[in-house]
Amino acid sequence: MQPFTLLIKPSGSDCNVDCTYCFYKCRPAEIGRGRQRMSEEVLEKLIKDYMQLRFPLAGFAWQGGEPTLMGLDFFKKAVDMQKRYGRSGQEVGNSLQTNAILLDENWCRFLQESKFLVGISIDGPKEMHDHYRIDHSGAGTWDRVMRAIDECRQFGVEFNILTLLNDVNVLHPDKVFDFLVGLGTRFLQFIPCVELDAAGGEVTDFSVTPEQYADFQCRILDRWVEYGPAKLSIRDFDSILSYYVTGRHTICTFDRQCSQYIVVEHQGDAYCCDFFVEPKWRLGSIMETPIEKLAACGVKRKFARNKTRLCSKCLVCRHLDICRGGCMKDRAPFDKDNFGRESYFCEAYKRFFDYAGPRFMQIAADINSGRLSREL
Ligand code: SF4
Ligand code: SF4
Repeated sequence: MQPFTLLIKPSGSDCNVDCTYCFYKCRPAEIGRGRQRMSEEVLEKLIKDYMQLRFPLAGFAWQGGEPTLMGLDFFKKAVDMQKRYGRSGQEVGNSLQTNAILLDENWCRFLQESKFLVGISIDGPKEMHDHYRIDHSGAGTWDRVMRAIDECRQFGVEFNILTLLNDVNVLHPDKVFDFLVGLGTRFLQFIPCVELDAAGGEVTDFSVTPEQYADFQCRILDRWVEYGPAKLSIRDFDSILSYYVTGRHTICTFDRQCSQYIVVEHQGDAYCCDFFVEPKWRLGSIMETPIEKLAACGVKRKFARNKTRLCSKCLVCRHLDICRGGCMKDRAPFDKDNFGRESYFCEAYKRFFDYAGPRFMQIAADINSGRLSREL
C-alpha cells in the first residue's frame, strides 16, 4: 500500500494559550472543546497497527491543540511502543508541533535524545507575536516562547519555526525574516491565515488578503535567494524546488491528490485531513477497524480525488502543473463542499509563480549541475 504518515492530536483541540485567530474558534463546537486526552489503550493500538505496516519510514506528527498538555510520560510511552512494535532497522520520524510554553529542561533532554523534530509557533518579533498569540488571561506569550527556544538551543534540540501569517506580520516580511533567521534555525514554514467568522460569512480581519500574501512571498523569496537557499529551508519553497528538480512536490498543498496523511483524534477517530475533521470525512475508528483499511477506504479515496476537481480557470492556467489549484480548504471557504471552486489565493499564486519561476529554475539547474548542494 501507498505509505502515509500520521497526524495525531492526542489532546484534541485543548490548548494552554488562547490565540485570537485559533483555527478551532472558527469551527463548530461539535468537533470538541475543553479537556480531551488520548488514552494509553488508543495510543498503543495506534502505534502497534501503524508500525506493523512496515513502511520504510514511520512518520508520527504530534499536533494539537497543544500536544505537550499530554505530559512527558505520554511521549516516553509512545517512543517505547514505537521501539517495541517496530522491526529492527525500521526508521521512525517523530515531529512535535508546539507553542513551546511547557518545554523545560526535562522535555528538551527527552526531545533531543529521542531525536524529535520540534516545530515551534512564533509569529515574529515580540510586538507582532503578542498581537494575537495571547494566553487565557490576555497576556502575550512571546517571552515564554523565547525562553523555550533558548532551552532547545542549550540542549541541542532540533527545531523549526512555524509562523502564521496574519494581517499584522504579513506587512513586514523583512522584519519577520531577519528575526526568524536570527533564531538560528534552518527550517521555516509560513502558513497564510484565512478564516471565516463564526457565522461563516465574512473573512475575518486577522486573515491575509491574496495581495498581501503575494507581496510577502515575493519579498521572502528575494531574501531567501540573497541569504542562500543552501543554508535555509522554507517549506513551500522547498516543495516548489523539489517539483522543479524531481517533478514531485513535498507538501500536499500543491500535490495532485490529498492523500499524504491521515489524522487521528484523541479518541481514535480517523479523518482525511486536519482541515476537514467533520462527520462527512470521518474514516472510522482505529479501535474498530485496522488502520490500513481506514487509509484505503472509499471515503478516503473520494476525498483524495476531490483535489482533482478544478475550476475552469485552473484548467487553462499556465501554472496548473505546479499549483494544482492549491489546498482544498482555501478553495471552499465560502462553500464547504465545493472543491471545484477557485482558490481564495489564486491571484497570489499566479503572481508568485510568475515572479519566482525563473529563480527556481536557476536554483534547480544549479542543483542538477552540482553547483549547489541541497537536500530536497
Ligand atoms: S494559479 Fe490559480 S488558476 Fe492557476 S492553477 Fe493555481 S489556483 Fe488555479
Ligand atoms: S485539503 Fe489541504 S491540507 Fe488537507 S490534504 Fe488537501 S491540500 Fe493538504
